[in-house]
Amino acid sequence: MKVYHLSAECYPVAKVGGLADVVGALPKYQNQMGLEAAVVMPFYERKFVQENEWEMVFDASSLLGMHRFYFEVLKEKTGKLGFELYLIKIPGLLDRENVYSYPDETEQFIAFQIAFLDWINWSHQTPDLIHCHDHHTGLVPFMLYYSRLYHRLSEIPTILTIHNGQYHGAFNWSKLSLLPEIDMTKTGLLDWNGAINPLASAVKCCWRYTTVSPTYLEELTYRSNGLEYLFYMERAKGTGIINGIDTDIWNPKTDAMIAANYSVRQLATGKQKNKEALCEKFGLDTDKPLISFIGRLVGEKGADLLPHAIRQVIKGYPDAVNFIILGAGEIRVQDELKALATAHPKQCSVFIGYDEPLAHQVYAGSDFLLMPSRVEPCGLNQLYALRYGTVPMVRVTGGLKDTVIDYGDDGGYGIRFIQASVPDIVHACGRAVEVYANQPLMQLLRKRMMALDFSWARSTKEYVNLYESLKPVI
Ligand code: ADP
Repeated sequence: MKVYHLSAECYPVAKVGGLADVVGALPKYQNQMGLEAAVVMPFYERKFVQENEWEMVFDASSLLGMHRFYFEVLKEKTGKLGFELYLIKIPGLLDRENVYSYPDETEQFIAFQIAFLDWINWSHQTPDLIHCHDHHTGLVPFMLYYSRLYHRLSEIPTILTIHNGQYHGAFNWSKLSLLPEIDMTKTGLLDWNGAINPLASAVKCCWRYTTVSPTYLEELTYRSNGLEYLFYMERAKGTGIINGIDTDIWNPKTDAMIAANYSVRQLATGKQKNKEALCEKFGLDTDKPLISFIGRLVGEKGADLLPHAIRQVIKGYPDAVNFIILGAGEIRVQDELKALATAHPKQCSVFIGYDEPLAHQVYAGSDFLLMPSRVEPCGLNQLYALRYGTVPMVRVTGGLKDTVIDYGDDGGYGIRFIQASVPDIVHACGRAVEVYANQPLMQLLRKRMMALDFSWARSTKEYVNLYESLKPVI
């Protein structure tokens, strides 16, 4: 079965968040199960692109409204990622460094989707399935089924995976002319709330959609930034499949980015060595429990709650607990966190920025990983924490609810709390201090966590089952 994954991000080419990790791993595991899965993404002027060799497999020009653009399809030459990787390069539109946040983002992603469809159409390919990820690729199902230009492809099933339903990519109807010739009687399938809404359109037009956890599938029906009714109505088309993690990359036994490798056998010494290296880097005391946060400093992640909550914990447990924050995002939150670290340098360190090796070191060297998320479609951080024997402290939402069992419950290993609020975070930190003081319990939890299997094997099977359930129609 030939499958094209379409995505704005893919690790290690370009990563902003979890979408990249998923698209960089799922196709590899699908190929190991006998599929022919490939990834198609925009070209970014980035290290991976500059350092690897590419072969131009197709070039042509197409139309974005009245504007004719030239595009190239570049294929990575070695296949070393475990799947075929194609980049679509459009000079002037898709040849920049950053993934998001350009003022002409709408034009960028529409042109990307048109170029993809033109490429497979004009090169006479007929994939068995097109798998779209998030709103950046959400207009593909509509164009495929309702543009005369792609009539030859209109029987191809499409699947949409929603990694984050808060972002829709909506734009004004005045930009309708950017789309290729379409069946004007079907424009309702583009609309949500008076705008062209790529995520809503994808949900309406795709054959099936998936969310990255079962709980998130339900949550979208009551919290999806205005699409609640749509998700409620289309619920029968949806399936929740929890993400896996790439256990080749995220493996404390072999991870070259951490200070000392360890497996469950040398767990205590391995964790200690990593903690020492991390604490030394940040000038923190190794003997205290270390609670860390990694992620985008935005409201979705509850990052705005951190400064106040950490201040209260430091006050309530003087000299009893340390914090490391790694992230970037809202300026106000960044500034508050920096001020906190300046006020309490021995208890709180903050690194503002994106740093992949440092993230690995924090997972390996911390005792606890705090995730006070307001929204968490799946969450990968808690899965990495589990893999590295670090106790996740999570607010029960989305995938966090599906993957973390409280240590107070049967077979549990994490710390759960109900509200994304300062008192709940402070209470959870208090529980962390208690757990840490009970070292035999701490060791037991670490062993339990490291025995868990969140590899892609299980999730890949669920995706393949879903694909196969579409087979008779293919
Ligand atoms: P989201 O995609 O919503 O940001 P996920 O939990 O799905 O959240 O994925 C986050 C990914 O990004 C994880 O791999 C995490 O380690 C990584 N990450 C987030 N912020 C940073 C950062 N500042 N430095 C390094 N890695 C980061």
